[in-house]
Amino acid sequence: MEIMNRMTNPSIIKTWQQRPLIISGPCSAESEQQLVETAMALASTGKVAMLRAGIWKPRTKPGLFEGMGSIALQWLKLASSLSGLPTCVEVANAKHVEEALHMGVDVLWIGARTTVNPFSVQEIADVLRNTDVPILVKNPVNPDIELWAGAIERLQAVHVKNIGMIHRGFSTYGDSNYRNAPLWHIPIEMKRRYPEMLLICDPSHICGNRHMLHQVAQRSIDLGYHGLMVESHPNPDKALSDAKQQILPGDLMVMLNNLVWRSEQSSEQEFVDALTKLRARIDNLDEELLGLIAERMKLAEKIGEYKRDNNITILQTQRWNEILEKSIQKGIKLGLSPAFIARYFDAVHLESISRQNSVMYAKKEETK
Ligand code: PEP
Ligand code: MN
Repeated sequence: MEIMNRMTNPSIIKTWQQRPLIISGPCSAESEQQLVETAMALASTGKVAMLRAGIWKPRTKPGLFEGMGSIALQWLKLASSLSGLPTCVEVANAKHVEEALHMGVDVLWIGARTTVNPFSVQEIADVLRNTDVPILVKNPVNPDIELWAGAIERLQAVHVKNIGMIHRGFSTYGDSNYRNAPLWHIPIEMKRRYPEMLLICDPSHICGNRHMLHQVAQRSIDLGYHGLMVESHPNPDKALSDAKQQILPGDLMVMLNNLVWRSEQSSEQEFVDALTKLRARIDNLDEELLGLIAERMKLAEKIGEYKRDNNITILQTQRWNEILEKSIQKGIKLGLSPAFIARYFDAVHLESISRQNSVMYAKKEETK
């Protein structure tokens, strides 16, 4: 098959490995002129490595703008040859993959609404079997880390060589400052599981507005992400999709210049020594904390035995509220945030209850 024999141009793989890797372009391809204008402006920044554009747009309801479809691939090709930027397009099925690659698209991405569907991801994986076509996988719309990891595994299973991840935030119920809540712990866990894999932040879909882009982008860089995908448009307010979050290529340039780029490692001996010392102290403290927590759990078990023998409930709401309130007050004085204290004590309390449950259960077993 055509795709199987397709070899990605080495210069694209080189771009893929560029750090930071900045991808930008409109949410949707709207016209030849829009794409060419955006691509030329982005290329002239000297910082953007790849042009993105949505060709087939998955929309919540029918009747909304669903992208220009296949015809836009020609515009993208022209924009790429004029600007010199490689291109990146969203695909949701095998036909999209075939059409995009046939028209010379360099890099693909799987959108958040597609990552949730294992059938679609498998279909895309099957058509890419044994290729080196670079492909980025956005997180699924729902905060299910296994679904995200599952999509990566489907691609790995068919030996796709160049896989990356895009963090675009998660749908949540209720009011939020974000369009899609970042839930940073999920991409952090993905980075732990796939330390070598390219991880990019898409602040545009996380924020849903322009004014928070910089802070979210900076946060991702501070966490060691490898790049950004930011939506840009020559006339953002008039964009046919995601108008509120798109920015002018010139404004992107300003933002990129104002971000503080960090690397994960340093070769400066003085810094490395200082870090090693601080880490050793942290390791010691962690060990002490673990010992103390284990001791606390042993005491909880003792209390469990007492409650069991006196037929008292495990959960003592008033006592628990007192502990929590007292600890939050103490924590504040020590410079710890109430939210952290609450999360920490919740975890400790849950474990404590589970230990006491085991104690009661053991009693039941004995008396059977
Ligand atoms: C997009 O990048 O324009 C897009 C549709 O993103 P997501 O899949 O993150 O919603
Ligand atoms: Mn968009």
